[in-house]
Amino acid sequence: MKINTFIFKVASLCNLNCKYCYVYNKGDSSFKKQPKHMSAFTFELALNKIIAYAEENNISTVNINFHGGEPLLMGYDRAEKFLDILRKTFSNSRVNYSSTIQTNGLLLDEKFINLFIDKNIGIYISSDGTSEMNDRYRVDFSDIGIGMRLENKLDLISTTPLNKNFRGFLCVIDLQNDPEEIYFYFKRYNPFLVDFLLPLNNYKSPPAEEIKFYGEWLIKLFNVYMNDISNNFRIRYFDDIILKILKKSASHTKELLIPIIIETNGQIELDDTLKVANGAALNMNIQEESINSLLKNERFNLIEKEMTNLPNACQACPVNDICHGGHISHRYSDNNNFDNPSIFCEALYMLIEHVSVHLEQVIAASKKSSSENLV
Ligand code: SF4
Repeated sequence: MKINTFIFKVASLCNLNCKYCYVYNKGDSSFKKQPKHMSAFTFELALNKIIAYAEENNISTVNINFHGGEPLLMGYDRAEKFLDILRKTFSNSRVNYSSTIQTNGLLLDEKFINLFIDKNIGIYISSDGTSEMNDRYRVDFSDIGIGMRLENKLDLISTTPLNKNFRGFLCVIDLQNDPEEIYFYFKRYNPFLVDFLLPLNNYKSPPAEEIKFYGEWLIKLFNVYMNDISNNFRIRYFDDIILKILKKSASHTKELLIPIIIETNGQIELDDTLKVANGAALNMNIQEESINSLLKNERFNLIEKEMTNLPNACQACPVNDICHGGHISHRYSDNNNFDNPSIFCEALYMLIEHVSVHLEQVIAASKKSSSENLV
Protein backbone atom coordinates (compact mmCIF):
# COMPACT_ATOMS: atom_id res chain seq x y z
CA MET A 1 0.00 0.00 0.00
CA LYS A 2 1.39 3.36 -1.01
CA ILE A 3 0.70 6.68 0.66
CA ASN A 4 0.41 9.66 -1.64
CA THR A 5 -1.41 12.32 0.37
CA PHE A 6 0.15 14.31 3.19
CA ILE A 7 -1.66 16.99 5.13
CA PHE A 8 0.39 19.62 6.90
CA LYS A 9 -1.20 21.29 9.89
CA VAL A 10 0.73 24.48 9.54
CA ALA A 11 -1.34 26.24 12.25
CA SER A 12 -2.77 24.29 15.18
CA LEU A 13 -5.47 26.77 16.24
CA CYS A 14 -8.60 27.95 14.46
CA ASN A 15 -10.33 31.33 14.30
CA LEU A 16 -13.73 29.57 14.32
CA ASN A 17 -15.53 27.42 16.85
CA CYS A 18 -17.79 25.28 14.61
CA LYS A 19 -20.23 23.34 16.73
CA TYR A 20 -19.58 20.00 15.00
CA CYS A 21 -15.79 20.36 14.73
CA TYR A 22 -14.09 16.96 15.20
CA VAL A 23 -10.84 18.58 16.32
CA TYR A 24 -12.00 21.11 18.88
CA ASN A 25 -15.50 20.10 19.94
CA LYS A 26 -15.51 16.30 20.14
CA GLY A 27 -13.45 15.85 23.29
CA ASP A 28 -9.98 15.81 21.72
CA SER A 29 -7.67 18.38 23.32
CA SER A 30 -4.34 17.23 21.83
CA PHE A 31 -4.15 20.49 19.81
CA LYS A 32 -3.47 22.36 23.09
CA LYS A 33 -0.06 20.70 23.34
CA GLN A 34 0.95 21.68 19.81
CA PRO A 35 2.98 24.78 18.90
CA LYS A 36 0.77 27.39 17.24
CA HIS A 37 2.68 27.19 13.96
CA MET A 38 4.86 24.65 12.20
CA SER A 39 8.47 25.76 11.85
CA ALA A 40 10.14 26.08 8.45
CA PHE A 41 12.72 23.52 9.67
CA THR A 42 10.03 20.89 10.40
CA PHE A 43 8.29 21.61 7.11
CA GLU A 44 11.42 21.20 5.01
CA LEU A 45 12.53 18.11 6.91
CA ALA A 46 9.11 16.50 6.39
CA LEU A 47 9.16 17.32 2.66
CA ASN A 48 12.59 15.72 2.28
CA LYS A 49 11.36 12.56 4.04
CA ILE A 50 8.26 12.43 1.85
CA ILE A 51 10.41 12.78 -1.27
CA ALA A 52 12.78 10.02 -0.04
CA TYR A 53 9.77 7.76 0.58
CA ALA A 54 8.21 8.55 -2.82
CA GLU A 55 11.47 7.93 -4.69
CA GLU A 56 12.06 4.66 -2.84
CA ASN A 57 8.52 3.46 -3.59
CA ASN A 58 8.26 4.72 -7.18
CA ILE A 59 5.49 7.20 -6.44
CA SER A 60 5.59 9.81 -9.17
CA THR A 61 3.28 12.44 -7.64
CA VAL A 62 2.32 13.28 -4.08
CA ASN A 63 -0.33 15.63 -2.73
CA ILE A 64 0.90 18.18 -0.25
CA ASN A 65 -2.07 19.84 1.38
CA PHE A 66 -2.24 22.64 3.93
CA HIS A 67 -4.71 22.39 6.75
CA GLY A 68 -5.19 23.45 10.37
CA GLY A 69 -6.73 24.57 12.64
CA GLU A 70 -7.04 27.35 10.15
CA PRO A 71 -3.97 27.29 7.89
CA LEU A 72 -4.16 31.00 7.01
CA LEU A 73 -3.45 31.77 10.67
CA MET A 74 0.15 31.02 9.71
CA GLY A 75 0.23 34.54 8.23
CA TYR A 76 1.25 35.77 4.80
CA ASP A 77 5.03 35.89 5.34
CA ARG A 78 5.24 32.35 6.69
CA ALA A 79 2.96 31.09 3.89
CA GLU A 80 5.19 32.70 1.27
CA LYS A 81 8.29 31.19 2.87
CA PHE A 82 6.72 27.70 3.08
CA LEU A 83 5.62 27.80 -0.54
CA ASP A 84 9.12 28.79 -1.62
CA ILE A 85 10.51 25.86 0.38
CA LEU A 86 7.93 23.55 -1.20
CA ARG A 87 8.85 24.54 -4.75
CA LYS A 88 12.60 24.49 -4.11
CA THR A 89 12.65 21.14 -2.29
CA PHE A 90 10.67 19.33 -4.98
CA SER A 91 12.63 20.97 -7.79
CA ASN A 92 15.66 18.99 -6.64
CA SER A 93 13.85 15.64 -6.85
CA ARG A 94 12.27 13.27 -9.36
CA VAL A 95 8.92 13.50 -7.57
CA ASN A 96 6.10 15.83 -8.67
CA TYR A 97 3.59 17.41 -6.34
CA SER A 98 0.20 19.01 -6.42
CA SER A 99 -0.86 21.22 -3.57
CA THR A 100 -4.05 22.64 -2.08
CA ILE A 101 -5.12 24.59 0.96
CA GLN A 102 -8.31 23.82 2.91
CA THR A 103 -9.48 27.00 4.60
CA ASN A 104 -12.60 28.42 6.23
CA GLY A 105 -11.99 31.41 3.94
CA LEU A 106 -12.35 34.22 6.45
CA LEU A 107 -8.73 35.38 6.24
CA LEU A 108 -8.50 35.16 2.47
CA ASP A 109 -7.59 38.44 0.80
CA GLU A 110 -6.18 39.45 -2.57
CA LYS A 111 -2.62 39.14 -1.29
CA PHE A 112 -3.10 35.54 -0.15
CA ILE A 113 -5.01 34.59 -3.28
CA ASN A 114 -2.37 36.11 -5.57
CA LEU A 115 0.27 34.16 -3.66
CA PHE A 116 -1.67 30.92 -4.23
CA ILE A 117 -2.06 31.72 -7.93
CA ASP A 118 1.65 32.48 -8.23
CA LYS A 119 2.60 29.21 -6.49
CA ASN A 120 -0.15 27.16 -8.14
CA ILE A 121 -1.94 26.17 -4.92
CA GLY A 122 -5.60 25.12 -5.22
CA ILE A 123 -8.04 26.66 -2.75
CA TYR A 124 -10.83 24.67 -1.11
CA ILE A 125 -13.35 26.40 1.16
CA SER A 126 -15.29 24.72 3.97
CA SER A 127 -18.95 25.71 3.80
CA ASP A 128 -22.30 24.24 4.83
CA GLY A 129 -24.15 26.07 2.05
CA THR A 130 -25.91 29.44 2.09
CA SER A 131 -25.20 32.18 4.60
CA GLU A 132 -28.12 31.07 6.83
CA MET A 133 -26.98 27.42 6.65
CA ASN A 134 -23.43 28.36 7.69
CA ASP A 135 -24.71 30.48 10.58
CA ARG A 136 -26.29 27.43 12.23
CA TYR A 137 -23.02 25.67 13.14
CA ARG A 138 -20.13 27.68 11.71
CA VAL A 139 -19.64 30.32 14.36
CA ASP A 140 -16.74 32.32 15.78
CA PHE A 141 -15.69 32.39 19.43
CA SER A 142 -18.39 35.02 20.16
CA ASP A 143 -20.94 32.51 18.85
CA ILE A 144 -21.65 34.72 15.83
CA GLY A 145 -22.34 32.95 12.55
CA ILE A 146 -19.87 33.52 9.73
CA GLY A 147 -22.32 33.24 6.81
CA MET A 148 -22.18 36.82 5.51
CA ARG A 149 -18.44 37.20 6.12
CA LEU A 150 -17.77 34.04 4.12
CA GLU A 151 -20.11 35.19 1.36
CA ASN A 152 -18.10 38.42 1.00
CA LYS A 153 -14.93 36.35 0.58
CA LEU A 154 -16.58 34.11 -2.01
CA ASP A 155 -17.68 37.21 -3.92
CA LEU A 156 -14.06 38.38 -3.86
CA ILE A 157 -12.96 35.06 -5.36
CA SER A 158 -15.69 34.69 -7.93
CA THR A 159 -15.89 38.26 -9.24
CA THR A 160 -12.21 38.64 -10.10
CA PRO A 161 -9.64 36.63 -12.06
CA LEU A 162 -8.69 35.25 -8.65
CA ASN A 163 -11.05 32.34 -9.10
CA LYS A 164 -8.48 30.63 -11.33
CA ASN A 165 -7.17 28.71 -8.35
CA PHE A 166 -10.49 28.21 -6.60
CA ARG A 167 -11.12 24.45 -6.66
CA GLY A 168 -14.29 24.08 -4.64
CA PHE A 169 -16.15 23.41 -1.43
CA LEU A 170 -16.13 20.88 1.35
CA CYS A 171 -19.63 20.60 2.81
CA VAL A 172 -20.83 18.57 5.81
CA ILE A 173 -24.36 17.28 5.17
CA ASP A 174 -27.05 18.71 7.45
CA LEU A 175 -30.52 17.25 6.88
CA GLN A 176 -32.12 20.58 7.78
CA ASN A 177 -30.72 22.03 4.55
CA ASP A 178 -32.33 21.53 1.19
CA PRO A 179 -29.92 19.71 -1.18
CA GLU A 180 -31.25 21.49 -4.26
CA GLU A 181 -30.78 24.91 -2.66
CA ILE A 182 -27.20 24.06 -1.64
CA TYR A 183 -26.40 22.67 -5.08
CA PHE A 184 -27.43 25.83 -6.93
CA TYR A 185 -25.88 28.06 -4.27
CA PHE A 186 -22.48 26.41 -4.76
CA LYS A 187 -22.89 26.41 -8.52
CA ARG A 188 -23.02 30.19 -8.67
CA TYR A 189 -19.41 30.37 -7.42
CA ASN A 190 -18.19 28.21 -10.29
CA PRO A 191 -16.31 25.54 -8.33
CA PHE A 192 -14.45 22.71 -9.97
CA LEU A 193 -15.52 20.18 -7.34
CA VAL A 194 -17.74 19.88 -4.27
CA ASP A 195 -17.14 17.26 -1.59
CA PHE A 196 -20.26 16.43 0.42
CA LEU A 197 -19.39 14.60 3.63
CA LEU A 198 -21.65 12.60 5.92
CA PRO A 199 -21.28 13.78 9.52
CA LEU A 200 -18.74 12.08 11.76
CA ASN A 201 -21.03 9.63 13.49
CA ASN A 202 -20.38 6.00 14.34
CA TYR A 203 -21.88 3.33 16.63
CA LYS A 204 -20.48 5.09 19.68
CA SER A 205 -22.12 8.33 18.66
CA PRO A 206 -24.97 7.63 16.21
CA PRO A 207 -26.78 10.44 14.38
CA ALA A 208 -29.99 11.75 15.97
CA GLU A 209 -31.90 11.39 12.69
CA GLU A 210 -33.12 8.17 11.08
CA ILE A 211 -30.48 6.93 8.63
CA LYS A 212 -32.96 6.58 5.77
CA PHE A 213 -33.33 10.38 5.74
CA TYR A 214 -29.64 10.65 4.78
CA GLY A 215 -30.34 8.26 1.90
CA GLU A 216 -33.27 10.38 0.75
CA TRP A 217 -31.17 13.55 1.03
CA LEU A 218 -28.34 12.09 -1.04
CA ILE A 219 -30.74 10.74 -3.67
CA LYS A 220 -32.36 14.17 -4.00
CA LEU A 221 -28.95 15.77 -4.47
CA PHE A 222 -27.93 13.10 -6.98
CA ASN A 223 -31.10 13.71 -9.02
CA VAL A 224 -30.44 17.47 -9.08
CA TYR A 225 -26.85 16.77 -10.18
CA MET A 226 -27.94 14.43 -12.98
CA ASN A 227 -30.75 16.69 -14.20
CA ASP A 228 -28.60 19.81 -14.39
CA ILE A 229 -27.60 19.84 -18.04
CA SER A 230 -25.50 22.99 -17.63
CA ASN A 231 -23.58 21.36 -14.80
CA ASN A 232 -20.12 22.85 -14.43
CA PHE A 233 -18.74 21.08 -11.37
CA ARG A 234 -18.15 17.58 -10.08
CA ILE A 235 -19.53 15.97 -6.96
CA ARG A 236 -16.73 13.56 -6.17
CA TYR A 237 -18.75 11.09 -4.10
CA PHE A 238 -21.33 10.54 -6.86
CA ASP A 239 -18.73 10.37 -9.61
CA ASP A 240 -16.80 7.73 -7.64
CA ILE A 241 -19.93 5.59 -7.29
CA ILE A 242 -20.73 5.96 -11.00
CA LEU A 243 -17.18 4.99 -12.00
CA LYS A 244 -17.21 1.99 -9.70
CA ILE A 245 -20.56 0.83 -11.05
CA LEU A 246 -19.22 1.18 -14.56
CA LYS A 247 -16.19 -0.84 -13.35
CA LYS A 248 -13.79 1.88 -14.34
CA SER A 249 -12.10 2.07 -10.97
CA ALA A 250 -11.51 -0.41 -8.17
CA SER A 251 -13.58 -0.01 -5.01
CA HIS A 252 -10.41 0.23 -2.99
CA THR A 253 -6.95 0.91 -4.32
CA LYS A 254 -3.42 0.23 -3.24
CA GLU A 255 -3.05 3.84 -2.22
CA LEU A 256 -4.00 4.61 1.34
CA LEU A 257 -7.12 6.70 1.05
CA ILE A 258 -6.82 8.02 4.58
CA PRO A 259 -4.15 10.68 4.36
CA ILE A 260 -1.21 11.08 6.70
CA ILE A 261 -1.20 14.18 8.89
CA ILE A 262 1.89 16.07 10.01
CA GLU A 263 1.11 18.18 13.08
CA THR A 264 2.81 21.52 13.80
CA ASN A 265 5.40 19.82 16.04
CA GLY A 266 6.14 17.18 13.40
CA GLN A 267 3.99 14.48 15.02
CA ILE A 268 2.70 12.00 12.42
CA GLU A 269 -0.95 11.04 12.76
CA LEU A 270 -3.77 9.37 10.90
CA ASP A 271 -6.65 11.35 9.50
CA ASP A 272 -8.49 13.58 12.01
CA THR A 273 -11.75 11.74 11.39
CA LEU A 274 -10.31 8.83 13.41
CA LYS A 275 -10.20 11.06 16.48
CA VAL A 276 -13.86 10.15 16.98
CA ALA A 277 -13.06 6.45 16.38
CA ASN A 278 -10.57 5.54 19.09
CA GLY A 279 -7.81 7.87 18.04
CA ALA A 280 -5.59 9.08 15.22
CA ALA A 281 -2.31 9.23 17.14
CA LEU A 282 0.58 7.03 16.00
CA ASN A 283 3.18 8.19 18.56
CA MET A 284 5.64 9.02 15.81
CA ASN A 285 7.37 12.24 14.87
CA ILE A 286 8.80 13.21 11.50
CA GLN A 287 11.87 14.59 13.31
CA GLU A 288 12.90 11.04 14.29
CA GLU A 289 11.18 8.71 11.86
CA SER A 290 11.03 8.08 8.14
CA ILE A 291 7.71 7.73 6.31
CA ASN A 292 8.60 4.09 5.64
CA SER A 293 8.66 3.41 9.39
CA LEU A 294 4.89 3.97 9.37
CA LEU A 295 4.68 0.48 7.90
CA LYS A 296 5.90 -0.95 11.21
CA ASN A 297 3.46 1.08 13.35
CA GLU A 298 0.80 -1.06 15.04
CA ARG A 299 -2.06 1.46 14.83
CA PHE A 300 -1.24 2.32 11.22
CA ASN A 301 -1.24 -1.37 10.28
CA LEU A 302 -4.53 -1.97 12.08
CA ILE A 303 -6.24 0.88 10.22
CA GLU A 304 -4.73 -0.22 6.91
CA LYS A 305 -5.98 -3.78 7.49
CA GLU A 306 -9.45 -2.61 8.51
CA MET A 307 -9.68 -0.39 5.43
CA THR A 308 -8.63 -3.21 3.14
CA ASN A 309 -10.85 -5.88 4.75
CA LEU A 310 -14.58 -5.88 4.24
CA PRO A 311 -16.51 -5.89 7.55
CA ASN A 312 -18.05 -9.31 8.24
CA ALA A 313 -21.59 -7.94 8.14
CA CYS A 314 -20.94 -6.56 4.63
CA GLN A 315 -19.77 -9.88 3.12
CA ALA A 316 -23.14 -10.78 1.63
CA CYS A 317 -24.14 -7.25 0.63
CA PRO A 318 -24.82 -6.97 -3.12
CA VAL A 319 -23.24 -3.51 -3.33
CA ASN A 320 -20.13 -4.21 -1.23
CA ASP A 321 -17.82 -3.86 -4.25
CA ILE A 322 -19.01 -0.25 -4.56
CA CYS A 323 -19.43 0.69 -0.92
CA HIS A 324 -16.77 -1.43 0.81
CA GLY A 325 -18.38 -0.82 4.21
CA GLY A 326 -18.36 2.96 3.91
CA HIS A 327 -15.87 5.37 5.48
CA ILE A 328 -13.66 3.75 8.12
CA SER A 329 -14.57 6.22 10.87
CA HIS A 330 -18.30 5.57 10.35
CA ARG A 331 -17.75 1.86 11.15
CA TYR A 332 -16.37 2.26 14.64
CA SER A 333 -17.93 0.72 17.77
CA ASP A 334 -16.34 0.04 21.16
CA ASN A 335 -17.25 -3.65 20.91
CA ASN A 336 -16.21 -4.54 17.36
CA ASN A 337 -13.74 -1.81 16.60
CA PHE A 338 -14.07 -1.28 12.81
CA ASP A 339 -15.73 -4.61 12.01
CA ASN A 340 -19.17 -3.09 11.41
CA PRO A 341 -21.01 -1.83 8.37
CA SER A 342 -21.08 1.96 8.17
CA ILE A 343 -23.48 3.57 10.64
CA PHE A 344 -24.92 5.11 7.42
CA CYS A 345 -25.34 1.65 5.81
CA GLU A 346 -29.04 2.07 4.99
CA ALA A 347 -28.39 5.45 3.32
CA LEU A 348 -25.42 4.16 1.34
CA TYR A 349 -27.38 1.16 0.12
CA MET A 350 -30.34 3.35 -0.93
CA LEU A 351 -28.05 5.71 -2.82
CA ILE A 352 -25.99 3.06 -4.62
CA GLU A 353 -29.12 1.19 -5.64
CA HIS A 354 -30.65 4.43 -6.93
CA VAL A 355 -27.50 5.33 -8.92
CA SER A 356 -27.40 1.81 -10.41
CA VAL A 357 -31.03 2.02 -11.57
CA HIS A 358 -30.40 5.50 -12.97
CA LEU A 359 -27.40 4.29 -14.97
CA GLU A 360 -29.32 1.28 -16.30
CA GLN A 361 -32.07 3.62 -17.51
CA VAL A 362 -29.57 5.99 -19.14
CA ILE A 363 -27.79 3.11 -20.89
CA ALA A 364 -31.10 1.57 -22.05
CA ALA A 365 -32.33 4.95 -23.37
CA SER A 366 -29.07 5.54 -25.19
CA LYS A 367 -29.18 2.07 -26.81
CA LYS A 368 -32.77 2.67 -27.87
CA SER A 369 -31.95 6.03 -29.43
CA SER A 370 -28.90 4.58 -31.28
CA SER A 371 -30.99 1.74 -32.73
CA GLU A 372 -33.71 4.22 -33.80
CA ASN A 373 -31.08 6.34 -35.55
CA LEU A 374 -29.96 3.30 -37.50
CA VAL A 375 -33.46 2.66 -38.86
S1 SF4 B 1 -24.26 -0.86 1.98
FE1 SF4 B 1 -24.04 -1.43 4.14
S2 SF4 B 1 -23.79 -3.68 4.15
FE2 SF4 B 1 -23.40 -2.94 2.05
S3 SF4 B 1 -21.17 -2.68 1.96
FE3 SF4 B 1 -22.10 -0.68 2.49
S4 SF4 B 1 -22.06 -0.61 4.71
FE4 SF4 B 1 -21.74 -2.74 4.13
